[in-house]
Amino acid sequence: MMKDKLVFDLIQKELDRQQHGIELIASENFTSPQVMQAAGSVLTNKYAEGYPGKRYYGGCEVVDQVEQLAIDRLKSLFGAAYANVQPHSGAQANAAVFLAVLKPGDAILGFDLAHGGHLSHGSPVNFSGKVYQPHFYGVEEDTGLIDMDKVEAKALAVKPKLIICGASAYSRDWDYARFRAIADQVGALLLADIAHPAGLIAAGHLNDPMQHCHIVTSTTHKTLRGPRGGIIMMGNDFENPWGRKTKKGNPIKMSAILNSGVFPGMQGGPLEHIIAAKAVAFGEALQPGFKSYTAQVIQNAQAMAKAFVDKGYKLISGGTDNHLMLLDLRSKGVTGKAAEKALGLADITVNKNMVPFDTETPFVTSGIRVGTAAVTTRGLKEHDCLQIVEWIDAALSQPENEAFLSDIRKEVNTHMAQFPLYEEAGAAV
Ligand code: PLP
Repeated sequence: MMKDKLVFDLIQKELDRQQHGIELIASENFTSPQVMQAAGSVLTNKYAEGYPGKRYYGGCEVVDQVEQLAIDRLKSLFGAAYANVQPHSGAQANAAVFLAVLKPGDAILGFDLAHGGHLSHGSPVNFSGKVYQPHFYGVEEDTGLIDMDKVEAKALAVKPKLIICGASAYSRDWDYARFRAIADQVGALLLADIAHPAGLIAAGHLNDPMQHCHIVTSTTHKTLRGPRGGIIMMGNDFENPWGRKTKKGNPIKMSAILNSGVFPGMQGGPLEHIIAAKAVAFGEALQPGFKSYTAQVIQNAQAMAKAFVDKGYKLISGGTDNHLMLLDLRSKGVTGKAAEKALGLADITVNKNMVPFDTETPFVTSGIRVGTAAVTTRGLKEHDCLQIVEWIDAALSQPENEAFLSDIRKEVNTHMAQFPLYEEAGAAV
């Protein structure tokens, strides 16, 4: 068969871009060749609506084993009693949970999108903000930290049915125990969305949400370094709190309610090729090397954060406990949009990001978000991160000077040539 040159030339171009540049988008990472191989396998051909051992299609003997392996590995990675590996993405994992545990119009309480939260936690432009009644907590303007007493006061005032902790751009750890105490006080379920720090949590570097939160969702492609996708877990399964019963009158466990939220509630057939790739990634995360990788991710982020602060940059909350930091560029006289563009010309990829109490529009923004999961996978260490801060600082001092940015790009490309990515034949294209 003739190769589709148009598409594969573009994939080759994207591979070149990933190889030559410095990837600092906090939500991205580089999967292993094995993860990509599984994602590009014959499992993409298989329909498997239902769950292992209970499918609506024939021929599922093999994919049943694949999916069960992914479930078992995920449970042991997080010490979970329950895991669902079918959500196609993090947003769909959240949607499935909302569908399973809420009724339209119910109040929910999440972290403000404008302070670093995620769309799927009640933003008015997302279904979660249209179908449910969203309320938000945020960070303090002076500290950049969440004030838990204010979260409690808000929860008491709005009486949410679901409280969500977790964010896309919060550089500090979460007090899951306190969130749970608040949830219990108001009779809410507590959901932790650990999409960003999942890998750091799995490796034991951050607080563990499993024992405190009723439900935990995540993506699999950020610090967890798997294929793009979502997951749902529970530390402990429990009887549903609404007294829902089966036709035979037996109480229904939350695991069954969450499973039906995913299928048939939110999705049709699961992506078994992606589930196989998730199984590979979970297997990799269970290896001892993952603990040192994730420790290095945090060390790199902390080295970078300190270097930015030393150069007079304002970091929200002043530093980081995890893999990311949020820079407020207002004191440097450059917008997030201009910074993203200038750094892009130097082959340094970041995303513009709203900062708390931003004075710019979401399309322009006053900040950028920087993360170290991807560069750490490539093998960069603290001293490389200090060099990256030098390049970023230089680029932002002359964001319009294309010749200067091009000089930086050459240095970046030379530096990154020392860190091979997907060099094995056929590993990525
Ligand atoms: N939840 C959080 C906290 C996220 O940061 C993200 C993505 O960035 C998601 C959910 C959504 O994940 P996806 O893009 O896979 O739908």
